[in-house]
Amino acid sequence: MSVKKNIATARCNKSRGEGSANGSAKPHKFVRFIELRIPVHACTLRCQYCYITHRSLFDSSVRPFRYSPHYIRRVLSRQRLGGAAIINMCAEGETLLSSEVIELARELLEEGHYVMIVTNATLTNRIEELANFPKEIIDRLFIKFSYHYMQLKERGLLDKFFNNIRMMRDAGASFTLEVTPHDELIPLVEEMNQRAIKELGALPHFTVARDDRYAGRHLPLLTQMNREEYRNFWGRFNSPLFDYKFKIFEQPRSEFCCAGDWSGIVEIATGTWRQCYYNASRPVDIFTDPDSPIPFLAIGHNCMSPHCWNGHTWLGLGSIPGMETPTYAEMRNRVCEDGSEWLNPTFKELFSHRLEEAHIPYSLSRRIATDLKVAPIAIAKRIRRLIFGSR
Ligand code: SF4
Ligand code: SF4
Repeated sequence: MSVKKNIATARCNKSRGEGSANGSAKPHKFVRFIELRIPVHACTLRCQYCYITHRSLFDSSVRPFRYSPHYIRRVLSRQRLGGAAIINMCAEGETLLSSEVIELARELLEEGHYVMIVTNATLTNRIEELANFPKEIIDRLFIKFSYHYMQLKERGLLDKFFNNIRMMRDAGASFTLEVTPHDELIPLVEEMNQRAIKELGALPHFTVARDDRYAGRHLPLLTQMNREEYRNFWGRFNSPLFDYKFKIFEQPRSEFCCAGDWSGIVEIATGTWRQCYYNASRPVDIFTDPDSPIPFLAIGHNCMSPHCWNGHTWLGLGSIPGMETPTYAEMRNRVCEDGSEWLNPTFKELFSHRLEEAHIPYSLSRRIATDLKVAPIAIAKRIRRLIFGSR
């Protein structure tokens, strides 16, 4: 792979050249993965296994953005990030309840990024707005549809749900269908799967559900089954997503992780950049001066999470360099009975790459320097967590 440095990337990002967004290098390469947290704490459904319900985070609020979508585009410009990024928009609730999300998605797509949106597909008017985006930017839009079968069935929303997914598929977006396993769903699994095959040509993917009532300490499986029973039941549906998540579930990570540099979380509510869910460093304000370089800082050997519970994304996209994982494409795509696929060619290609392809590898001295910076704060946080039990 050719290494193309531009001034911005050489100065602050140490990333390799841009992807096709500016037509300058190999197609579809991305330099960062960003989880963009939308300030919504409300939902159109109330799933009993929802981690937000567990942590009593629903307060029915959909907070207006402090900054306009156009301004946020400047904050996350390609130039500032060192190239095109994959940006995943999600909320602690239903993402599309925020009216500004549509405009923000459009701004980020027009900037040349690849946008992912997590939604339960119950808000048809918002889905219609997305489906009306110009074809050339919908090509870079991926939707993760959460398939909450029991709730959708109880509320008579299944037809609407699948119609909305087909609307996005027919408009040219990529998508996946993901089930959160829970014990109450077991009697309905066969009918749920058959419905997915009938409507979308393939079985859904299955995630692994964590019990968030123990947040900060353990994050075990959310089930009354033992580990073996859980794997035997939910692992039957040929879902690489389930297989990989289950494999790494409850395994603390000790490798050098580049989260904080190659990937991170941006909180729209606070205007900050965080390394990962459990920040080992201090959150950084990246909104006040959108023209200043972002001080990316890898978490290194200081992962603060009990385990990498969404490692299918963070690790699948390559936050830990050199780690063997299935590709993100394998964990999201399905080939349908008629030969069509849930991922369009753009995402199939994109999700087959990893972050390390776009970055200069961390040398030993850089790893040591990073750890020396991060470790003191991480240790202080761990002590505070032990004493006060905070996340
Ligand atoms: S749709 Fe998602 S956010 Fe809403 S209640 Fe269900 S799990 Fe929670
Ligand atoms: S190992 Fe996973 S949870 Fe830990 S910092 Fe890296 S990406 Fe985050």
